[in-house]
Amino acid sequence: MAKAELMDYDKALELFEPVLGFEVHVELNTKTKMFCGCANEFGSGANTNTCPTCLGLPGGLPQVNRQAIESSIRLGLALGCEIAETSRFARKNYFYPDTAKNFQTSQYDEPIAFDGQLTIELESGRQVTVDIERAHMEDDAGKLTHLGGAAGRIQGADYSLVDYNRGGVPLVEIVTQMIEGAEADAPEIGKTYVAAIREIVKALGVSNARMEEGNVRCDANVSLRPRGSNILGTRTETKNVNSLRSVEKAVRYEIQRQAALLTAGGTITQETRHWHEDTGTTSAGRPKSDADDYRYFPEPDLVPVAPSRAWVEELRATLPEPPAARRKRLQADWGFVNLEFQDVVNSDLLDVMEATIAAGAPAQAARKWWTGEVARLANAAGVSADTLVTPAQVAALIELITDGTLTDRLARQVLEGVIAGEGTPSEVVASRGLAVVSDDGALIAAIDEALASQPDVLAKIRDGKVQAAGAVIGAVMKAMRGQADAARVRELVLERAGSAPAESAQ
Ligand SMILES: [Zn+2]
Repeated sequence: MAKAELMDYDKALELFEPVLGFEVHVELNTKTKMFCGCANEFGSGANTNTCPTCLGLPGGLPQVNRQAIESSIRLGLALGCEIAETSRFARKNYFYPDTAKNFQTSQYDEPIAFDGQLTIELESGRQVTVDIERAHMEDDAGKLTHLGGAAGRIQGADYSLVDYNRGGVPLVEIVTQMIEGAEADAPEIGKTYVAAIREIVKALGVSNARMEEGNVRCDANVSLRPRGSNILGTRTETKNVNSLRSVEKAVRYEIQRQAALLTAGGTITQETRHWHEDTGTTSAGRPKSDADDYRYFPEPDLVPVAPSRAWVEELRATLPEPPAARRKRLQADWGFVNLEFQDVVNSDLLDVMEATIAAGAPAQAARKWWTGEVARLANAAGVSADTLVTPAQVAALIELITDGTLTDRLARQVLEGVIAGEGTPSEVVASRGLAVVSDDGALIAAIDEALASQPDVLAKIRDGKVQAAGAVIGAVMKAMRGQADAARVRELVLERAGSAPAESAQ
């Protein structure tokens, strides 16, 4: 559907109430796959991490990965879920070329975790509690690459390649209850909810949580209910939305598309839809099947998972502070206003900031360097800031500024030396000879020389035209290769011009 066929967003909200639902797939970062010993590794040579079990070959038998169960339970607990006393795997049957077994090993009526809640906060400060229906375990499909067509789509492709490395990688699928009352915030709720899930799995350490590598993928369900009606509209499910911005855009797009279609007398088909990052649009996928169509049945090759209550409680004790609570605590500790704190959060710098401050740096100085010069250099190099320097190095740099060894300008040069691998900040100061010249004797010598060579300036200063001192300060700073404290130089220039005539100082 072309963008012209969308209804204006505000108009759509006047006529309809959006109802949402999200399914977020989290790829766990276990060493091995869910049911076999193959490596769970991104970026290996195609089809190298495979075995008879994950390829569904005769004789392959699954065995559950204990670490995957543990991660799933911890994730369930962090989402406020109940952990099932017994939980069972089920086969979800379908043919799709990226799944060699012809079924996905998933969970159906006995998920590992259920009945959770997650409260998110929108930019306006509005709090929304999202009810979690379930979080169940399953294995991932392989990856198809479509070649010869446009933008890697299957339509128009000449041929497709399949890589089964991802087949069998452990996933947790988190399914929300229906979210009503979202109103105009619907797109932001989608984005914020997925961001919160990503933050939680990262804090737990159960996933690498890189959306660009597909570690966290979101399916967004959207339907519209006409104002004044209590009958739910037909929903669409936009699959595999792989960035936070895209979740926001996909929800907004579906609201505008469905509103236009319904108002024109059309009907919404219950279907999956593809999200197109390049055009910012969705297009029809396949008609959405009902659970019955998959002929779920209990996996006969696996025993039920029955985690002991003692183990569950042991795992509960390992849960980190919830990310939202941690953010509130840190902002208060650091005394940052919202804008300053958001800057840190949006740049994904919470961890390094916390470590830098723990290493002794004042909060504002740490923020200034991480979100300023370090971020600038990281952007230029196309890497993330925390890969350039360590919190300890930034703290040491700030310490050198605080004790007067470095000016900000010199500190930037030291930072470049540290990034270039020349050693700690102190080592770079020593090897590059970058410390501030704090020896007044050296400064006075340079000042007297500058005053002597600019007698007209000297006369002006003595005449009370203090601003004329700028030329002398500039000359001294240049002679000191910038390694002087300009305020101290100014002080000394005025002093020398007044009390010690330059002629006699020569
Ligand atoms: Zn395998």
